[in-house]
Amino acid sequence: MDLKIRLALFASHFYFSVGFPIQVNTEQSYEGVAFPESEEETIFSLILKSNKGSKTHLYEGDITPKRHRNAIVCPFNWCFWPKSSNGLVVIPYVISSSYTHEEKALIVGAIQEYETLTCIHFVDRTTETDYIYISPKDGCWSYFGKVGGSQVVSVQKGGCMRKGIIQHELNHALGMLHEQNRNDRDKYVVIAWQYISPGDFYHFKPTRANNLGLKYDYSSVMHYHRFAFSNTSGKATITPFPDSTVPIGQRFGLSNLDVAKINKLYKCGIHSTLLSNMTGSFSSTIYRSSYPKNTNSVWLIRIPANKIFLQFSSLYIQSSSDCASNHILVYDGGSRGDTVFLNKLCRPTQLPSVVSSGNMMLVELVSDGTTLPKFKASYSSVQCGKTFIAMNGKFKSPLYPSHYPPLTDCAWIMIAPEGSKVSRGYLL
Ligand SMILES: [Zn+2]
Repeated sequence: MDLKIRLALFASHFYFSVGFPIQVNTEQSYEGVAFPESEEETIFSLILKSNKGSKTHLYEGDITPKRHRNAIVCPFNWCFWPKSSNGLVVIPYVISSSYTHEEKALIVGAIQEYETLTCIHFVDRTTETDYIYISPKDGCWSYFGKVGGSQVVSVQKGGCMRKGIIQHELNHALGMLHEQNRNDRDKYVVIAWQYISPGDFYHFKPTRANNLGLKYDYSSVMHYHRFAFSNTSGKATITPFPDSTVPIGQRFGLSNLDVAKINKLYKCGIHSTLLSNMTGSFSSTIYRSSYPKNTNSVWLIRIPANKIFLQFSSLYIQSSSDCASNHILVYDGGSRGDTVFLNKLCRPTQLPSVVSSGNMMLVELVSDGTTLPKFKASYSSVQCGKTFIAMNGKFKSPLYPSHYPPLTDCAWIMIAPEGSKVSRGYLL
């Protein structure tokens, strides 16, 4: 089957879903979008594996102490990066020239999430004395907080090249510590000391760090995995309590609470939400009571694999000329530099759905603060599909001319300029 549709309506939506039993093959992919991989390898298992044999002195597996110091300490908040008068925390950085183009793109992608969701802005270093130097040293490790001068964040090629690991190490450089070593951790996890060698006890020492008044986060990118430093094969050293089945040690990237903690630590004043489940919904209502003037809000959807199908179920924004004052933007990716799918959405008649080209999508609510914009939206994952914003296009079923696999879930969205219509499609 080959389907070709000419676009003319403002928004039209074609969706198909086919249901038969299927054995999901984790190696299978459509349009370059892979199914989720095994969860066996967590961030911290990969970090420890990469750091085996490292000559760098490391606390808690991947933190190297400030030069001439022998502990991870931050009295009087000296280790935090300074904030500029414009409210941004600007951190100069350099990426080693020994990375490939693809490796550099991965690092930049990990860095961009901070800019999208927090007031931390990593900028290319020019002449600044203090900066972060991301370099492939011996393993995945970082200093704790700002130490001054050229400060290495080691992201070794191979095992360390994951977005979650890069963000884990950058978080240390921002002054964040391991989640399971919080001073209140015994309420949330049980440490099995009998499976930890005495020489490794210090890796589990609770810190006196400020918990920022935010709740314990099992899904933090800063959480050890359950077998960290175990000296007995198959025996866990960290078990969530009271529900021992709660996943820990995810490796996909910052969690929503990781973002909240950075924003609180640096007093960012940013309204951002990170949605990382395979399905979810969100709305503007959480900000209704205290919507500040001229402040944008963002929702970053980042799912582990596949594409994102986003739809709005309601929208109320006081109209203004050309929707300039209050509107919604939807980007095909995780940053404001990505393609804009929906530009200046502001009327209840405009409720198109969109499908991302990758595993990330960004929704931004722009408001001048004169009214309280309201909207509700939900998303789910699809294995294939596309949003067409060009004046014409064509698409075909997965694996064409072969049969598409059973239980394949795809969505194609066609959006034409307002006042136009989408012409009937026809099959070739
Ligand atoms: Zn760490």
